[in-house]
Parts: sequence; C-alpha cells; structure tokens
Amino acid sequence: MFKLFRNGIIAGMIAAISLPVSAQEKYSKVRLPVTHEQIMQFAFSKLNADHFTMEGQQMLLVLNTSEMDALRQSGYPYELLIDDVVRHTTEFNSRIQPDEQRPAFQGNACQKIGDLIQTPAAFGLGGSLRLGASAGNPGYLKYTEMHTHMQNMANAYPSLVSLFSIGNSAAGTPIYAVKISDQVGTDEAEPEVLYTGLQHAREAISGTSLIFFMEYLLENYASDSRIRELVDNREIFIIPCVNPDGYAYNYSGASASYPVTGGGLWRKNRRHTGGAASNIGVDLNRNYSVDWGNCSGASSSCGSSSQTSDTYFGPSAFSEPETQAVRAFVLSRKFVNAIDQHCHGSYYSLPYGRPSLHTPLSGADSCYFTRIPALMGLYNGHRAGNSPQTVNYEVAGGIKDWLLMGDIGSGTGPKAKVMGMTGEAGGGNFWAPVNQIIALCKENCFQNLQMAYAAGDYYELEDLNDMAITENDGKLVFRVRRIGLSGSPLTVTVIPLENMHTVGAAKTSTIASYYGTYTDSISYSLPAGFICGQTIRYVWKVEAGGISSYDTVTRIYNPITLLNDDMEGNFSDNWTAIISPAGPTGWGFTSTQSYRGSKWMAASPTGN
Ligand SMILES: [Zn+2]
Repeated sequence: MFKLFRNGIIAGMIAAISLPVSAQEKYSKVRLPVTHEQIMQFAFSKLNADHFTMEGQQMLLVLNTSEMDALRQSGYPYELLIDDVVRHTTEFNSRIQPDEQRPAFQGNACQKIGDLIQTPAAFGLGGSLRLGASAGNPGYLKYTEMHTHMQNMANAYPSLVSLFSIGNSAAGTPIYAVKISDQVGTDEAEPEVLYTGLQHAREAISGTSLIFFMEYLLENYASDSRIRELVDNREIFIIPCVNPDGYAYNYSGASASYPVTGGGLWRKNRRHTGGAASNIGVDLNRNYSVDWGNCSGASSSCGSSSQTSDTYFGPSAFSEPETQAVRAFVLSRKFVNAIDQHCHGSYYSLPYGRPSLHTPLSGADSCYFTRIPALMGLYNGHRAGNSPQTVNYEVAGGIKDWLLMGDIGSGTGPKAKVMGMTGEAGGGNFWAPVNQIIALCKENCFQNLQMAYAAGDYYELEDLNDMAITENDGKLVFRVRRIGLSGSPLTVTVIPLENMHTVGAAKTSTIASYYGTYTDSISYSLPAGFICGQTIRYVWKVEAGGISSYDTVTRIYNPITLLNDDMEGNFSDNWTAIISPAGPTGWGFTSTQSYRGSKWMAASPTGN
C-alpha cells in the first residue's frame, strides 16, 4: 500500500514537472508571408519574433510549441519548413563532410579574411559539439571546454592572460572571464574594452568565436606588430559565456530537444522563477535596468512579463545572478566600448533598444555608431542600426542601452559611458552548421579587432593627391580623421619606397573632438632628371598612443593622358555604347547623385 502510494506520488510529480516543460520545448521553423502590417504585428506580439530572417516579404521564424499553437489559431497562412529544428540540425550536420567547410566572406574589402586571419593552432577544430557531424569537422566548445582553453592560455601566456570569475550563475557555475594585455597583472591606464557572449544560451557561435579571438591575439602577439601594439595598449576583457547554465542545458541530453551533441534551443537562464514548475528562466538581455519592463506600445519581442515567455524580463531589473555579475564587473572597471555577441542575423544592433523613448544619437555618439560598425562589418557584410532598424522590433532592458546610459553612464554614474552594441553573427541558424564555424569565427575576429582599435587612439588617413604627380618638388597632402575614442597626439610620416629623393619631416597634431579631421602636407622631391610615366611609391604612417597604421600609395609622374573626360559634356563626345543603345535605356551620363562635378556615367542612367 505504502509502495503503491509512493509510486503514485512520484509518477504524479514527474508528470507535473515534465509535461509543461516538454510541451514548451519542441521548436519548429516556419515561413510566414508578411503580406500586410497586421501579420508583422502579430509575429512580434504573439510569436516573440526574435532573430528571424526576412526573405523578401517572407519571415523565417523558429517557434516553440505555444507559439506554434498561436500561429495555427491565428488563421494566417504559413509554411512549415522544419517540424523539429533540433532533430533536423543533427540530421543535417551528420551529412557534412570535413572537406565541405564554408570559406569566409570576402566582404567589400580587397583581401580575403580567410587568408588574413589564420585559425589559431590552439583553437584547431574548436570543440566537441559537432551537432551530429563526424569527427574531423569543427565543433562548438562546451562550457567546460571553453574553460580548459582559457586555462591553457593563462598557463601558456602568463604575462598576457589572467583568468578569473566574475561571479556565479543561478546554478552556482563560475562565469569565467579573461583579461588580455601586456603586464596583465597590473591595472594600467589603457583603454578598456569588453566582449560578452552567450547571454542567449542557444546562440552558440557567440561564445566559441570569442575563444577563437583570444587565441588569435595570443598566438600572433610575438610575430605581428599590429597585434602586439593592440594588446600592449589596451586592456581587453572577454566573457565568452554569460549564461553557462542555459548553454550547458542545450547539450545536456535532458530530452530529445537537448542532444548531447548540442543544438538545443533554450534561450534564457535556468533559474526557477517561482510558481509552476515550468516557470524557468529569465531573458538576460531583457534584465538590465534601462527601460526595464517598459514595453508599453511595443511588441512582446520587446520583453514579456510572462514567466513562460522566451523574452521574460524577470521580476525586477538585475534580478538574475548572471546580470548582477556583469553589472558588478562593469562597475569595477572603466570600459569605453563593448560588444555583446549574439546570433543570428548579420547585423550590429546599436542603441537604442527603444528609440521611441529617447533622443536620437547625435554628435560624437552618432559618428562612432556610424563609422565603427562599418569598419567592423568590412568582411561580414553586417548592416547596422538601432533595434527597430535591424531586428525590426524594440528591445527594453538590453545590455547595450545600460552600457551607454545606465547607472554607470555619464548621466547618473561615476564613470564615462560605454559605447555598447549588440553583434548578431550570421550563419542562418542559432547553431549554424558546423562547416560555418571557422568562417564565422574569422569574420567575428576581424570585427573584434576593429572594436579594440576603436577603444583608444585610432585614425584614418586619406591621401588627397591626384593620381598624377606633376611637380618635381611638391607637397603630399593628407587628411587624418579621428575614429578612436582616445585623442592622443598623432604623428604622420611619409616613408619613401620607390623613386623619391627626399621627404619632409613628420607632422604632429592633436584632434580634440571625435571624428574631427586634421589636414596638412609633407614635402617631397623626386630624383633629378626623373622621366615622365615612372612610378612613385611611398607609405603613410600614422602613429598615436603606441598604435601605428600604414597605407602604401602608388602615383605616376606626369603620365601620358590617353583620355580625359570630366563627363560634364555629352556622352557621345567620347563614348560609344556597344552593349545597349546610349540613351534612356542604356549607358549614358546622369546627374543623379554625382560624386564630383554635376554628372557621372551609369549603365542605366534613368535608375532602372
Ligand atoms: Zn540573442
């Protein structure tokens, strides 16, 4: 009798605990045609649309069971693309072969990032979470593997790396961080930069790519002066996994939705928030204090008061051990800029999460958040904008707004504000197929380097001289723009490379305001009896605050002009279109948006 009674209780408890949870934990991918505004609003308000992909007028979404129910009940037409995303992930990856790795994007730069950034030896193929792919393929790093990598780095580079914990997760797991800098044990007066990953537990590349970045910095420190200067003149702090409980749950084998090879789609942390057993987890990136819980007039993707929602913002701002740890750590430092890495979507989501509640960015802030994301995205093609401009919905209580204007900010806190943003790596899935891991890491690595440069002295030089050099003795004109957050004095030097007799002395100046410019020139002379048409080459060097950048320039001495057309006349003066007739439907001059002068030449001058 007793035994029967006990079994009955246990069976009842298991049913009570597991049924609501498992009912939540199947994820499906759907294609939702957004044919009018109401459907878009429905997606944001009832489906917690988050990190979706738009294909033309179609929205590609991953939905949990209750969101799928809401979609079915809505009556809106949709196409079920994948019934069980986790199982599909495993099946898809099991067919990937080691020789089928996606190359890194070339982006809109002239060199290939896949060649510029080599995979660190210590990173190798990453971790053991291969999502069902065979050995020999790259994999995501488990949290314990991340920790091992960080320990190995601290052991191998004790003067450059320190490993520490910023606090514990809800389950008591240490949240590990590393500092990378020269004289790492000393708190030097160098710009401090912060990288965080895996606030959202399923956005796997956001953590693994930060381990790649750490190892890239360390392995190139001795051999690459650019990396050495960066590490020597910055204090780089990296927290690869803010949410270790949620991340580990996604490869825990807790159910078919969480296979031990990875691919689980849990988003929040794993704290039981009270009440029903299924009330688990807070969306950490809705738990910061700026605009916390203020989603009036916005959709549910903004944040939700429902404990079972994927965007539950928690009972109060900083209610979670993980966000408390981040807050305490940020308050203990003097960060100047930061990126909180997420995926997927291919964009930089900038302040504000709720732009409708704040004065638009202006001045230096606007310049920083325009120029720096453009540089960071040179090789990954990311777009940039505030939350509605990128993710298409408003976000309340996100980390980026707190970094910029929270209780550490210039408004109410003791320190300067932190120029924070959210990065959404590409890859097309929360767990991008494993043959994209290396490419995504390389694309993120370049982005991360650019942000570290921008934390301190960083300048762009523009050579303002014509392609044709016509004077034997003259001046090389340059314009330097300040794009870094520090404004130390800068020195511009011309280094002669080819066919330059003399060059003048270096010039030094200070650009006090962010995005300000300094225009000047350095004299030169060419060898006596120099012959027309010969090549002249020199290097611009800009040095400031221990960081040097170089740009090689080629010019021609009095070249023979074959054709000179400033396009201010008529197309037919110099040109004959052979592909299609000149005129409204083919090649011709147009005055629409000319770069210099009043006209330019276009393949379809009427714009179609
Ligand atoms: Zn995210």
